[in-house]
Amino acid sequence: MSLIVQKYGGTSVGTVERIQAVAKRVQKTVAQGHSVVVVVSAMGKTTDGLVKLAHDISAQPSRREMDMLLSTGEQVSIALLSMALQELGQPAISLTGAQVGIVTEAEHTRARILNIDPERVERCLLDGKVVVVAGFQGISNSTDLEITTLGRGGSDTSAVALAAALRADVCEIYTDVPGILTTDPRLVPDAQLMDEITCDEMLELASLGAKVLHPRAVEIARNYGVMLVVRSSWTDEPGTRVVSPFNEGRSLEGLEIAHPVDAVELDTNQAKVALLRVPDHPGIAARLFGEIALQDLDVDLVIQSIHEGNTNDIAFTVTQSSLNQAEAVAEAIAPSLRSHDAALDEAEVMVQAQMAKVSIAGAGMIGRPGVAAQMFTTLAKAGVNIQMISTSEVKVSCAIARDDCDRAVEALCDAFHIASSTLASHSSTPVPEADFPPVRGAALDRNQARLAVRSVPDRPGMAAQIFTRLATHGVSVDMIIQSQRCRLLDGTTTRDIAFTVTQADAEMAQQVLRADQAELGYGEVLVDPAIAKVSVVGMGMVHRPGVAAKMFQALAKQDINIQMIATSEIKISCLVSEEEGVQALQAVHAAFGLSGSQRIQVPA
Ligand code: ASP
Ligand code: MG
Repeated sequence: MSLIVQKYGGTSVGTVERIQAVAKRVQKTVAQGHSVVVVVSAMGKTTDGLVKLAHDISAQPSRREMDMLLSTGEQVSIALLSMALQELGQPAISLTGAQVGIVTEAEHTRARILNIDPERVERCLLDGKVVVVAGFQGISNSTDLEITTLGRGGSDTSAVALAAALRADVCEIYTDVPGILTTDPRLVPDAQLMDEITCDEMLELASLGAKVLHPRAVEIARNYGVMLVVRSSWTDEPGTRVVSPFNEGRSLEGLEIAHPVDAVELDTNQAKVALLRVPDHPGIAARLFGEIALQDLDVDLVIQSIHEGNTNDIAFTVTQSSLNQAEAVAEAIAPSLRSHDAALDEAEVMVQAQMAKVSIAGAGMIGRPGVAAQMFTTLAKAGVNIQMISTSEVKVSCAIARDDCDRAVEALCDAFHIASSTLASHSSTPVPEADFPPVRGAALDRNQARLAVRSVPDRPGMAAQIFTRLATHGVSVDMIIQSQRCRLLDGTTTRDIAFTVTQADAEMAQQVLRADQAELGYGEVLVDPAIAKVSVVGMGMVHRPGVAAKMFQALAKQDINIQMIATSEIKISCLVSEEEGVQALQAVHAAFGLSGSQRIQVPA
């Protein structure tokens, strides 16, 4: 007999008939000999309706009252589902978040779970009851016992947290799609259902999967080794397994990491190759990394940044032992990229051995401004110069000199409250199992704008200051790239820094940075809203040469120009022009063999 937590989303309990259908499914599970805890969302679009009511009354309703209001939605569905189960002769009891002991921080509308005391649920289960729990809500750890909510989409997080606390055998997330798809089927009609994806991949695909599965839920599943399944509540199809590679057996204390970073990672075996001033037209990255892949060299970080004039810089890291070979490849290509016009600065190769990469990782940084800034500030204070920056959804990596890495790690562990003992378990990139596909899924984000800050003086702390100011104004930054090339301006060495933000924040970001232009001493701040970010994600790309090359080649074949590149171990993202976004996604999706013939039905 096993213990199963089942979570049903809004559409799955949207009507009386749907609630009755869910009750039957729960009853069937019990009949198979399992104990069942059910977590439900509010019916249909109830929560949206409540938000609208609040805004009809107040332009800025208090966050506390919003929690009082929104938490009622789930209370309706738990009571009705419990009645439906009792109607079928199945003993059941509905409980609120507070009643099952879901204790959160006292942060209204975005509380994180601190602890769960599963005692009452366990008692009810022993009595032979199905326990129906209100998702999305908890009770604060303050003396006033305030009702809190976990943020929109938070019932997934309630379900997985309960599964962790109860040590459930599996947590099933029932929804209106058949599972996790390789990409957005509205953009790529031949997207396919995945049988399996790892939690780490799912987190990096947050922009693709966030609507299907709350990223915080994925992080809890990963940290506690909860077996997760996403499937449709309309069919008996098995859906997608979201698996966690390790189970650390963490304590339930501080269940959802109250801080946004849950690991500091270090890789001391890195060397950098930079190809400066390459022409800004399609196919250059494809050619460079194609050659590198032919030599079977494993590339780790890749960044490409934009520049004044018509040239780009591409920089990447390899292991120390591959440096000579990688340099030779770059040197061999460079001459063909030169126009031999003596008046121009032309393509040039620059290398540096003895580098290290430090990263901070954690789902808690999604949508939280200031996490990257805090990393840069911490490194600046420790006197560490950042040579390359590359970011992904859930990770910020900085390439630094190897001599600096002890100081860097110590400062970061301290700043982000990471016990340095946990560092070891994350410090080496896991070698993927042989059968992991190099790319599991692809995503397109058309909602971003690119900003470029020109001629930033090259001294420690500049990135820190820029991103701290943005964070103070609530601007979340996604991809950040610091250029390789230095320019001498009035005797000062300068570099460009480019990054992306959501389009809604672009103007604000530009204003904030322009206001500080004189004080911080950088040049123009430019915005390009017409960009799109296309990404591929897969554990199998770790230590497997040629994946980046394949992506760049797929784009080059379509004659799509890559404006910026950023990578993490398991993700490669390219910025392209907005109008080429969908074509880029389709090309990349097909290039990695993700397309299939099965048509997946998804609601509009
Ligand atoms: N009802 C809440 C919402 O719509 C929580 C959830 O459904 O996950 O955001
Ligand atoms: Mg949801």
